[in-house]
Amino acid sequence: MSESKALSPVKPVGMELVYYYPCPHCGRRVPLIAPTQPARVQCDSCRGQFPVVPADEKTVSFLKTIMDSGRAGIDPSFL
Ligand SMILES: [Zn+2]
Repeated sequence: MSESKALSPVKPVGMELVYYYPCPHCGRRVPLIAPTQPARVQCDSCRGQFPVVPADEKTVSFLKTIMDSGRAGIDPSFL
């Protein structure tokens, strides 16, 4: 009774911007999903902690809007 129907490729319904912050202890580029509040983060390599300058919430929101939450940025051959 189960149909072996091939799933068609799924389109994104959301996106995030990843910011990289260089760890002052070991130099690793620590990826963070755009933090919009000042925060203290922990390096996932050396475990050292450091404060980061937050992302501008309006800019992040604007970029998500012009990207239509990712839908405007997919491979054109899948449109
Ligand atoms: Zn580190």
